[in-house]
Amino acid sequence: MFDLNVRFQILSMLLLLVIVIDYFRYPRLKTLSSKYFMLLMAANFVNLCLDIVSVYTITHIESLPEGVNRLTHQFFIGSVLVCTFISFMYVFMKGRQQRRLERKSFLVLIIPLAISFLVVLFGPLHYYISDGKAYSYGMMAYVVYICGFFYLLLELLMTFSSKYSLDREQKISIRFVMMIWLITLVSQLTFPWILLSGAALTWIVLCIYLSFENQREHIDMEVGGFNRAAFHHMLDEYYEDGKPLYLVHLRCDNNDRIQSIAGHGAGRQTIQMMKQEMEKLFSKDIFHSRSSVLSFFTRVDPSEDRKRLEQLCTALSHLEFAGIALQFHISVMDLRTYTKNKDEVYELTNFMLTEFTDAEEKIIFLDQKLAERKKRQDILGRLLEQALEQDGFQLYYQPIYWSKTGRFGSAEALLRLKNCGELGFVSPEEFIPLAEKRGIILEIGDRVMEMAAEFIRDHDLEKMGIQYIEVNLSAMQAGAADITERLYRIVKEKGINPAQINLEITETAMLEQSETVDSNMKKLRGLGFGFSMDDFGTGYSNLAQIVSSSYELIKLDKSLIWPAFGQSMEKNGIVSKEDQTKAMELLSSLIDMLHKQGLQMVAEGVETEAMKDYLVGASVEHLQGYYFSRPVPDLEYISFIQDKHRIDN
Ligand code: C2E
Ligand code: CA
Ligand code: CA
Repeated sequence: MFDLNVRFQILSMLLLLVIVIDYFRYPRLKTLSSKYFMLLMAANFVNLCLDIVSVYTITHIESLPEGVNRLTHQFFIGSVLVCTFISFMYVFMKGRQQRRLERKSFLVLIIPLAISFLVVLFGPLHYYISDGKAYSYGMMAYVVYICGFFYLLLELLMTFSSKYSLDREQKISIRFVMMIWLITLVSQLTFPWILLSGAALTWIVLCIYLSFENQREHIDMEVGGFNRAAFHHMLDEYYEDGKPLYLVHLRCDNNDRIQSIAGHGAGRQTIQMMKQEMEKLFSKDIFHSRSSVLSFFTRVDPSEDRKRLEQLCTALSHLEFAGIALQFHISVMDLRTYTKNKDEVYELTNFMLTEFTDAEEKIIFLDQKLAERKKRQDILGRLLEQALEQDGFQLYYQPIYWSKTGRFGSAEALLRLKNCGELGFVSPEEFIPLAEKRGIILEIGDRVMEMAAEFIRDHDLEKMGIQYIEVNLSAMQAGAADITERLYRIVKEKGINPAQINLEITETAMLEQSETVDSNMKKLRGLGFGFSMDDFGTGYSNLAQIVSSSYELIKLDKSLIWPAFGQSMEKNGIVSKEDQTKAMELLSSLIDMLHKQGLQMVAEGVETEAMKDYLVGASVEHLQGYYFSRPVPDLEYISFIQDKHRIDN
């Protein structure tokens, strides 16, 4: 029997050793439950050793000094109790999402363990040694069962209570662990001479290891370091303890580009390079928390040590891949000051990671001003969603003057939010990019097209001499895979001719995703829609592209026009005479060049008579601006046209 029992324990020790080796092979996520798990492994080891010793002492009881056998049994039983308690605490921590216990609750939970220890110290213990069977019995031995059943019951209740957020799989694993314990306790009661507890504990360790503590689940196999799941885990745990907590994200802004040029492996390597630099200067615990984003937590305020952040920036700006320099941004968030719960951490992270991809400064600290900007975006985002549901959008129309006929032959549709609530007037320049970010731009775009089409149909604009309405397409719309179907469906449904719509696309939209936009334009053009290039002169105008992708119209941005008339882009600002002359030369040669390419133009931002006279003189085909009219609501627009055209007639 001695042999059999010892073989059990030695096998268990080997199994434990394998688990330990595998466990420490990978970086370890430092959660509270992982601490309990390490404790459990250590306690299991001690327990197995004591098991062997106690088997030895009980089978050699005659030859040993008095009291030795009792003492080893006391240690052994004590170690079983400790293991029972630790495994219970482990499960408990999992269920509490790693929230630490207050001292009081801990003291309550430990009471059964403490009482059991008293029994172990003073309780009676008897030995049965006969027929090759040797075991101990008596109150001291039974206390293990009582204590074990008690904690088992608590665990069982926990898996049924909604207070503990355990998912299905976790519950199954925990119940499985409990089953192992239960079977062990019952068999131990039935066959006390087979010492099962140590081996059973190793099985429990294995079970916990496989279902919860497998560190590989936390490792980002692609770049090393911890993965997204680990990030959520640690945030849960750190967030709960109330101590100062800062979150630093490093985002590679051009990783997609690097990947598309140099392949998927390149994208991975850039993140690895960034990670190495971060590890040198900051924590070893780096999380690959989203694609192209590396993050770490810290308890010390990074804004107190800006030098180190700047060092990181310098190191990062020397990195390049396939000849492309890394573009990146670092954001620093003080979670205790700016967040009240974990949801807010995720929301603010979204904000910090998407808001500054084009920002000049490399390190962005979340401060009061940014927090307010984020709040405004939240309010505005909700307003936009409401507006979509409750008909809260409205189109204004700005008449466009046709120089050749002296009539207003077209108009641009400009979107307005009917009610901006506490925010007052919000310009589409602010809400359109936000709608893109929130993923509702396609729905809003549909609304715009519906309203424009209804307007054309209901007022029979063709009869009024309006050839078409210009409708803005945002970059995301222009590059959407289904934009052709969307727009065509609406036009058909409303019963207007696509030629009555001219779609404005900015040159930046074209630059960002030229292939999809190009193919969308071809399809839409095939259906009869016309096109304008909007905001010409604000981007990096690719002249070759303008000529090759046939636009009906080029819209000259006001920044090309105003300086030629001494007006700067700032409110009431002026430009020097010298700059004005240069701007005028540029404007006139641009107009010449575009005319030579056979392109027609719309001049935007025509505010003064001088501008109008010049542009008409230069044969710019279409003029748009406050000089003629501001954008106005539909009916006002109709009366404007009726007025003007009546006078003309
Ligand atoms: P945009 O397409 O360049 O539209 C012209 C903007 O210039 C309009 O601003 C218009 O009110 C303003 N404007 C027109 N004439 C003058 C002038 O003489 N002087 C000055 N200072 N401004 C003038 P708005 O309506 O605030 O729109 C701003 C931007 O929002 C638009 O710029 C466009 O990019 C975007 N947007 C407006 N409506 C829509 C829409 O329905 N869909 C999309 N995707 N974007 C839209
Ligand atoms: Ca426009
Ligand atoms: Ca424009």
